[in-house]
Amino acid sequence: MPGRVGAAVLADGTELPADLVVVGIGAVPTVDLARDLGLRCEGGIVTDEHGRTDHPAVVAAGDCTVQPHPHLAGRLLGLESVNNAAEQGRAAGRIAAGTDPGPRGVPWFWSNQGDLRIQIVGVSDGHDDLVVRRSEDRITVLYYRDGVLIAADTVDNPRDHNAAKRALANGQTIDREAAADIEVPLKSLVRPV
Ligand SMILES: Cc1cc2nc3c(=O)[nH]c(=O)nc-3n(C[C@H](O)[C@H](O)[C@H](O)COP(=O)(O)OP(=O)(O)OC[C@H]3O[C@@H](n4cnc5c(N)ncnc54)[C@H](O)[C@@H]3O)c2cc1C
Repeated sequence: MPGRVGAAVLADGTELPADLVVVGIGAVPTVDLARDLGLRCEGGIVTDEHGRTDHPAVVAAGDCTVQPHPHLAGRLLGLESVNNAAEQGRAAGRIAAGTDPGPRGVPWFWSNQGDLRIQIVGVSDGHDDLVVRRSEDRITVLYYRDGVLIAADTVDNPRDHNAAKRALANGQTIDREAAADIEVPLKSLVRPV
């Protein structure tokens, strides 16, 4: 007879009643081949944002890589998403062909969970402030660092997602105070380029 979950017990002994537990086990890239080639690996094959490894003849792309990010100095990030795999893959291919990889786009991610469409743009790690725009059927969280927009999560709010994506892609921020008013369309706070 399978048992039933009754509570989650935290490390400090706190007991939280629960009837469902979601376990996130993470992912570990297989980097044996890269290691055998002598490539730098730190939780993934270390690349630049375009997929260059520390060996001039080897490029890598996708979930097996970790890369730097502009506002996370000294940290390497695994961007596990279809967008990253495709964009880094294209850039790596261009480098392998001896052509310019071009500029790197802003990382973004989407996921459909049941009826909900979750969209993420930018990397929220390292934020020191956030703005929540919530209505009955949608939610947006804007993340700021030093007063500058760095990322946005939205649920069922593609308009806000697109506005934040445009701002980040163009190196703009979105005024924090104005964005806190859900009646103000986020799009109206992004300057056209
Ligand atoms: C359950 C789940 C849900 C996800 N949902 C989303 C989502 O909603 N949105 C999003 O953006 N991302 C999502 N992702 C992440 C996304 O799928 C990955 O970031 C993306 O597929 C990475 O692409 P990749 O080419 O690096 O690796 P993969 O897509 O994993 O491709 C690697 C390929 O290499 C093959 N391979 C492995 N070893 C060898 C070998 N030795 N020889 C030959 N072939 C080999 C594998 O079979 C595989 O086909 C999800 C991932 C999972 C697991």
